[in-house]
Amino acid sequence: MTEPESLLEEPEAPGTRVLLQLLWRGILWRCPHCGEGLIYAWFYQLRDNCTECGFDLAARAKDTWAVIYLTTAGLTGAIIAGMLIVKPFNLVLGQLVLAVFAVVVIVASLPSRKGMAIGFDYYIERNSRTSRSTPNTESGD
Ligand SMILES: [Zn+2]
Repeated sequence: MTEPESLLEEPEAPGTRVLLQLLWRGILWRCPHCGEGLIYAWFYQLRDNCTECGFDLAARAKDTWAVIYLTTAGLTGAIIAGMLIVKPFNLVLGQLVLAVFAVVVIVASLPSRKGMAIGFDYYIERNSRTSRSTPNTESGD
């Protein structure tokens, strides 16, 4: 028996491994469905469909705000924690460096964080589809 190319092709692949694969594809700006096509036409401008498999990306854009919000809050918290730990030689220079660093980190990571959100949304939809199609054998009716 050979290993399947993608965990997504395994009908009963472990949930965590599939989720990590989908998140990784998002970090690399790849389609969550095929892992090959690019999801952005330009920096942070989402394509309507995957260039390789035609997967509908535009339909997922509206479901990404919560992950974007939470990851931005997490990054901001990490930057504030760093600000409390590191004492700069020159306060004004330290504030300037921190402000530039915060903007660069938050903006530069936006496409990858949105890609992760799209992968996470795809994971949730995929699992809800699987659980709906599985017959409930424990029903007592
Ligand atoms: Zn694709």
